[in-house]
Amino acid sequence: MKMRTAVVVGAGPCGYVAVRRLREKLKPKDLRIVLITKDEYHYFPPLFADLALGEVELEEIRAPAKRIAELYDTEFVLGEVTGIDPQNKKVKVGNDEYSYDYLFLCTGVSYDFEKVPGLKEHGYHTYTLDGALKLKEALKDFNGGKVLLLAPEFPFRCAGLPFELAGKLLYLATKKGVDANVTITLPASKERIMQSMQEIPMTVGMIHQKYFPGKIEYKFGKVPKEVTENKVKFEDGSEEEYDLLIYMPPNRPPKFLASEEEFLCPNDKRWLVSTFPNFRHPKFNNIFVPTDAAMPCMRLPPVGVITHAAAVAAADSAIAEITGSGAPIPFPNQVPLVADLGPTGMMIVFEIIGKEGNVVKTKRYVSLTSPLIKSMKLSFYLGWIASLR
Ligand SMILES: Cc1cc2nc3c(=O)[nH]c(=O)nc-3n(C[C@H](O)[C@H](O)[C@H](O)COP(=O)(O)OP(=O)(O)OC[C@H]3O[C@@H](n4cnc5c(N)ncnc54)[C@H](O)[C@@H]3O)c2cc1C
Repeated sequence: MKMRTAVVVGAGPCGYVAVRRLREKLKPKDLRIVLITKDEYHYFPPLFADLALGEVELEEIRAPAKRIAELYDTEFVLGEVTGIDPQNKKVKVGNDEYSYDYLFLCTGVSYDFEKVPGLKEHGYHTYTLDGALKLKEALKDFNGGKVLLLAPEFPFRCAGLPFELAGKLLYLATKKGVDANVTITLPASKERIMQSMQEIPMTVGMIHQKYFPGKIEYKFGKVPKEVTENKVKFEDGSEEEYDLLIYMPPNRPPKFLASEEEFLCPNDKRWLVSTFPNFRHPKFNNIFVPTDAAMPCMRLPPVGVITHAAAVAAADSAIAEITGSGAPIPFPNQVPLVADLGPTGMMIVFEIIGKEGNVVKTKRYVSLTSPLIKSMKLSFYLGWIASLR
């Protein structure tokens, strides 16, 4: 077998899973793997929220990205990819170029923190380490009142997060003995949310009502226009006061792809283009895009469990081609997603029921709620990081 080179860009969950899968199936003499990442650490981003809420410590949520390379016989480059040349099969890192036979784009999403005036200045978020640490400080001084959880755009990375945060924050407030309530505002209409998330918001609503009666309110169709020190003004003329503002930053494609038209989702340029079920780029067959930023283009949610399964499917597709061993292992029919709602947890199933064009048809339903699920979720995340130390 001729030796090939796979370049994997990004050492988040997508890049880690892709490297691991490729190396589990192909020896270094058959496949050279180069992992390029801009951050010294591999983070498990759901743990940013747990860090902010004081449930875990910094060193529990990250591991050196280099460790992935050491464990899976991979070359490691610490640097930021600044350009891509798909015709000549090269990626650029500053003045250096790396050639590939296969490229895995696992770069996650970028965030537009500036979209709503005042949001960045007055709001907190859990989407980066810095954001989580700032919220952690703010929570130390939080002595109750109204928490506003605001999403300026839909969809957004981990759409379940405001529902989880609402329960987690009120659970924390109860433990601290302070009186708090939460309002969640979403920019999409209730119908659009129900269509997209199906029965999940209803079940979450029942759980919220059971544990925190009358303390969590949801408002739909609320597009923020401006944020001041204690108030959010919306485009429909309404206003919402707050004591603590937490927001879900709008998502954008990674910067080096933002003006590469061929890499953007044709219907919505906030996202990258990819194809289900092998996550190949529609034009450049040797480029795989199994990362978060590609999911909405196939109407899949940008969440880690889907990205994980996508990275395996993409790696298997490349492996099948390299070894000539026939069909790759298909994307799973069911992907379980686990939510931590504070005092209890919830297991959601994404069932893949078909595909129309490049749009994946899914059924989403809650299969189990139990406080045990909350501990399961945290143990899984902490175990993921611990296995890389
Ligand atoms: C607060 C929060 C809660 C979440 N909760 C859940 C949950 O409960 N369940 C769930 O399934 N998912 C959840 N998610 C989503 C989950 O974290 C993502 O789906 C997952 O991280 C996607 O992995 P990724 O590797 O595609 O992207 P990322 O984790 O963002 O990793 C991207 C990697 O690419 C690197 N990179 C980016 N650009 C470049 C470049 N130009 N050059 C080199 N390297 C680059 C970055 O440094 C990083 O290492 C949550 C996310 C957040 C933020």
